[in-house]
Amino acid sequence: MPKSHKSPLQQLDAAHHLHPFTDSQALHQKGARVIERGEGVYLWDADGQRILDGMAGLWCVNLGYGREELIRAADQQLRQLPYYNLFFQTTHPRATELASTLATLLPGDMEHVFFTGSGSECNDTVIRMVRHYWAGQGQPGRKTIISRHNAYHGSTLAGASLGGMKPMHAQGGLPLPDIVHIDQPYHFGEGQGQDPHQFGLERARQLEQKILDLGPDKVAAFIGEPIQGAGGVIIPPDSYWPEIQRICNRYNILLVVDEVICGFGRTGHWFASEHYGLEPDLLCMAKGITSGYIPLGAVAVGPRLAQGLISGGEFFHGFTYSGHPVACAVALANIEVMQKERLVERVHDDIGPYLQQAWASLGNHPLVGETRGLGLLAALELVADKSDNRRFPDDAGAGVICREHCFELGLVMRAVGDTMIISPPLVISRDEVDELIGKARQALDLTCQTLNN
Ligand SMILES: *Cc1c(COP(=O)(O)O)cnc(C)c1O
Repeated sequence: MPKSHKSPLQQLDAAHHLHPFTDSQALHQKGARVIERGEGVYLWDADGQRILDGMAGLWCVNLGYGREELIRAADQQLRQLPYYNLFFQTTHPRATELASTLATLLPGDMEHVFFTGSGSECNDTVIRMVRHYWAGQGQPGRKTIISRHNAYHGSTLAGASLGGMKPMHAQGGLPLPDIVHIDQPYHFGEGQGQDPHQFGLERARQLEQKILDLGPDKVAAFIGEPIQGAGGVIIPPDSYWPEIQRICNRYNILLVVDEVICGFGRTGHWFASEHYGLEPDLLCMAKGITSGYIPLGAVAVGPRLAQGLISGGEFFHGFTYSGHPVACAVALANIEVMQKERLVERVHDDIGPYLQQAWASLGNHPLVGETRGLGLLAALELVADKSDNRRFPDDAGAGVICREHCFELGLVMRAVGDTMIISPPLVISRDEVDELIGKARQALDLTCQTLNN
């Protein structure tokens, strides 16, 4: 679109606003998409178009937009105590209440949480905690953290280093020292033709090999998302996580699960660790903890970490806004609504299976090589040839074309390369699921047409 067609707001935006994860020059040519309002699972843009938000914002608006309960909780807390910190032996009621409420929801015997302001800050905290812990155990040599290629753990220096996104590493010389990566359990992308069970075991056993290569007394922890989100909703074969757990136990390596997306009902459990039978030592939460209304993160720790941290002297770590009272109040209200409306059970027993069945029906489309999903997470793979799952060349831009058609039709669906992904609000109705699937199919048809022209 020529420059003159940009609205005054878009012109101001181009003049002053640097966007995250955006090619600014490309953006400036067309002007930013302006989202003005939200209600339920819908957004409205500045042109008045209604858009079904198939991504719940960035995987976070689990209760949908406009929830009075969350708004009231924030309003009340702002009036009572808009800010206080948790440093130097102080607390406020909402932080303590939230910590104790989370302890009732967390998997296994996790009883303690450390608050942060975001998922990235959780992962920075993880690195500091596990190294501090091992030093306290008389094993300061245990520093290395093992992660996976194509993992996403945030965008701070530590988060981006733990993550395995090559373009992020390339900007600024990451990863930081003592962070290494093994291959991901992405069967469609990297295991075609292999038995999924065997592939899952092989990918998990790369962890064992890496531990042996480095020396077990050098390894502090393994970190992974139960299901990789930003990497493309990658659901590991069922053989993968039990084998990872076995290896962590065998070499006494701390297991860190990053549940920033998977937590808070997304997979039909409070935490995906339950689905996979995991017993993590550390667990990261953010996003759905407040349905994204206010930033908040938390790192939960199991007994051995808690013991180490409690007896380890002062932990020189914390953020000004860690456990912000307004964020904690909103998180408490968010959990209360989830319990009252039985949303976790709803995702597990009702709307999750309903969405998955409808999503799987897209698998018969000529452009679709695979569909997969769990709870309210789902992905499909665009392919050039269904008979052998051959992919499009990178420069065809099939995923981006499909995403743009979705937008035109009034649906937010995200593209990770040629993988289309959704993560809708947990409150989505059956009718809204039907609308989502109908628009996705239409977008696939239009993508075919565009690619053939
Ligand atoms: C989004 C995300 C993060 C980073 O969270 P921020 O709040 O953006 O810092 C970390 N881990 C996972 C798995 C995420 O999806």
